[in-house]
Formats: sequence, structure tokens, C-alpha cells
Amino acid sequence: MTSRGQLIVISGPSGAGKGTVCKSIIEKNNFWISVSATTRSPRSDEIDGVNYYFITKEKFLERIASGDFLEYAEVYGNYYGTPKSEVLKVLDNGQDVILEIDIQGALKVKTAYPNGLFIFILPPSMEELKNRITNRGSETPESLITRFTSAHKEISFVSKYDYAVVNDTVACACEKIQSIVIAERCRVDRMNGDFLKEEIINE
Ligand code: 5GP
Repeated sequence: MTSRGQLIVISGPSGAGKGTVCKSIIEKNNFWISVSATTRSPRSDEIDGVNYYFITKEKFLERIASGDFLEYAEVYGNYYGTPKSEVLKVLDNGQDVILEIDIQGALKVKTAYPNGLFIFILPPSMEELKNRITNRGSETPESLITRFTSAHKEISFVSKYDYAVVNDTVACACEKIQSIVIAERCRVDRMNGDFLKEEIINE
């Protein structure tokens, strides 16, 4: 029997670089990253179905009512949600899944799936975080202030996560996350008990 994939939840404040880190991780590993639905407008470089499923608020509310989301949250005035059936199907097929979601969503997932692996990405400093959000060039002056103010609050939730990874360089942050995932796979309490008994003890 294929063992279930690992659910890996990655959060962090805007500008911590979690999007870039996740992109780099999936390029090098056999992880599947969930594509969320959102009511936010696409940025100039974003593609529907690749970065997000961009849908209207009406459609989003319909999908909430149908129980389509594993979790959803309102972030910076827009709705974001993780499509449930896709994620569960991939996990059942034994593949590891990454959810790059905000803290409210991560806490909901933690209640429903306490066996998930919860990783928080931190910026090297608040100054660097401010530079990264500003240099992105995609925010209005108002949304820049909102995201920077929220960042301070969000960082205080780091203690709810299993691991904190400082994103000093993308390569280094990816290496740390890969090491965490590998170590987690070796945890006795995550291994299938039958496998331990049959394959190792009988040797
Ligand atoms: P952005 O607008 O910068 O793409 O994302 C804003 C925030 O929404 C980020 O913190 C991102 O992780 C979060 N987010 C993206 N998709 C989801 C989702 O499906 N659920 C939740 N709860 N948050 C999400």
C-alpha cells in the first residue's frame, strides 16, 4: 500500500520570499504545490490556473457553500482558498503537497490535519522585508503600508509553527526546508507501524 503524502504548510509575512522559495523547492523536488483560488486581480506576470485560479467573489462564496475548500481566509480584503479535492487526491496518491497559505488558513489546517508539517519563513530583517515588498513594484502605497503593518503581527505567530526558516538566500532556505522534510520522513511516529515490524525487525 502506498503511504500517504506529507502535507507541508508554508507561511510567512509578505516579502519574506515564500513564493520564490516554494517555486525553487518544487523545481528540485517531487512536491506538488496546490494552486489556490482567489478573488484578487492577477498581477501582470500571473497566469490563471498556474499562480492562482482567479475567480469572482460570487463564485468564491458559492464554492465555500459547496464545501470545496480545505481552508479559506480573507487576506488584505480578498478571499483565498485551497481546493480540497485536488489536495486530498494527491496526498492519497502518496505525493507530498505544499500549501503556501496565510497564517489564518494554516491554523485552520492545523486543527483539521495536526499531522501536517508547519514551516514559517522569516525575512533576515524587517528592513530587508520592507525593501523586498517595495522593490516588488506591484503594490499601491496603501497596500504597501497594509502589508508591512500586517507583517509585524504575522511574525508573532511563528511559535504556532513546527519550524522557522530564515530566508537569507533562496538556495539556503530551500536546503533547510528539504532537510526538515527529509528528517520528518524519518520520524518513527510518522512511519507506518507495519512497515517497521515487517521490514526491519524480521531482518
Ligand atoms: P498574494 O496576494 O501576495 O499572492 O498572497 C497574499 C497572502 O495570501 C499570502 O500570505 C499567501 O500565502 C496567502 N494565500 C495564498 N493562497 C492562499 C490560500 O489558499 N489560503 C490562504 N489562507 N491564504 C492564501
